[in-house]
Amino acid sequence: MDCLFCRIVSGKVPADLIAEGDRWIAFRDINPQAPTHVLIVPREHVESLSSLDESRAGLGGELLRAAAAVARMDGLEDGYRVVANTGADGGQSVPHLHLHVLGGRPMRWPPG
Ligand code: AMP
Repeated sequence: MDCLFCRIVSGKVPADLIAEGDRWIAFRDINPQAPTHVLIVPREHVESLSSLDESRAGLGGELLRAAAAVARMDGLEDGYRVVANTGADGGQSVPHLHLHVLGGRPMRWPPG
């Protein structure tokens, strides 16, 4: 399957990797929307949050813990935002589940 994030996971496409675990990697977004903009990506190909079924119990929690660890690493003591764009209306452009960790500036609500 020709998936960009699978290619980053396998090392075929370079990325600015900042942390990794058994089931995930974290790298800086190529088009950052905040001073910190990191993507947490499962090593396994999972299309979106909607595909996170019983067979992957625990993966969601691991990704969230990774997001919090990355926020600590980048010193985001004043807070941050974790986003999982899902599907067309959610604005998902890469069909491989990922969490965005955004911080280093105040976030607005509602998002666009
Ligand atoms: P989404 O729109 O939620 O699917 O997020 C996909 C994100 O991947 C966007 O923020 C892109 O800027 C980012 N992105 C696309 N290609 C790369 C790449 N080669 N390395 C790092 N981030 C990327």
